[in-house]
Amino acid sequence: MSGRLLNRVAIVTGAGSGIGLETSLLFAQEGANVFLADINQKAVEDAVAVISQRWPNVTATSIKCDVSKEADVKAVVDLAVEKFGRLDVMFNNAGIMHSADDDAVQTEEKIWDLTHNINVKGVWFGCKHAIQAMRKNPTDSEKGLHAGGSIINVASFVAILGAATPQLAYTASKGAVLAMSRELAVVHAKEGIRVNALCPGPLKTPLLMDFLNTPEKRERRLVHVPMGRFGEAIEQAKAVLFLASDDSSYITGTDFAVDGGISSAYVTPL
Ligand code: NAD
Repeated sequence: MSGRLLNRVAIVTGAGSGIGLETSLLFAQEGANVFLADINQKAVEDAVAVISQRWPNVTATSIKCDVSKEADVKAVVDLAVEKFGRLDVMFNNAGIMHSADDDAVQTEEKIWDLTHNINVKGVWFGCKHAIQAMRKNPTDSEKGLHAGGSIINVASFVAILGAATPQLAYTASKGAVLAMSRELAVVHAKEGIRVNALCPGPLKTPLLMDFLNTPEKRERRLVHVPMGRFGEAIEQAKAVLFLASDDSSYITGTDFAVDGGISSAYVTPL
C-alpha cells in the first residue's frame, strides 16, 4: 500500500461489479475508508468481506442504494459523514445500458426514462449531496486531510463519438453526464471541490459483454479500437484513483478518456 488515500473517506456507487468493484478494492488498498453502494446488496456485502480480510486497517461499509432515488443517495452520504465526519471522494459510477435501448424510432419511452433516471439523475443526486458534505470538510494537517474534495462521474466514450450501433438513451445520458460534470467543476472550483468525468472505452465487464454476446458483435467494435482489445475494469480504477487523489490536484473539468485510443482514431492499425 502506498497510502495515496490514507484517512480519506470515499463513496463508490455501483460498487458491486466491474469498474466500481475494482475501484473500491483499490481505494481500500490505498488506505481509504470506503462506502460500497449498490442496488445489489449481496454483491457489495461480498466485496466488503474481501476488503475486511485483505486490508483490516481500513473500514469498508456496504449499503443498498438505488442511485435513481434521492433518499437512498442522501442516506449513503449522511452515513459517511456520521461515521467519519467528512467525505473526500465521491465516485458516481453506477450506470446501466439496457438491452432494449436502440435508435430514435425503436427506443421506448420507459427505457429512455429508466436509463436517464439512473445514469443522469443518479449522478446529479450524488453530486448534490457530496458537494454539501464536502463544503463542510475540516482540514486536519496531521492526517493529511484538507477542505473540499474530488468528485468523479462516469460518462463514456460514446458521449463524444457517434456509433452506428445505436443505444440512443445511453449515449444521450452519458453526454449529459459530461456536460453536467464540466459545469459543476467550474461552479465549485473555488470551494476546492474538483469534478471530473471519466470516459471509459469499451470494457470487458458484464455491462458490455452481456450485450456483445457473439464473436461477430465483439469484432464489430474491436476493429475501431487502436489497441485492438477491450479494456479491463482495473485500468479504469487506476485512473479513478489518480483523479481521486491529490496527484491530480490541479485537474478539474476534464473529459478524462481511458479508452485504448478509440476517441482519437480515424483509421486503425491492421
Ligand atoms: P457493471 O454492470 O459491471 O456494474 C454496474 C454496477 O452498477 C452493478 O453492480 C449494478 O448492480 C449497479 N447498479 C445498476 N443500477 C444501479 C442503481 N440504480 N443504483 C445503484 N447501483 C446500480 O458495469 P461497468 O462496466 O462496471 O460500468 C460502470 C460504469 O461505467 C457505468 O456508468 C457504465 O455506463 C460506464 N461505462 C462502461 C463501459 C463498458 O464498456 N463497460 C464503457 C463506458 C462507460
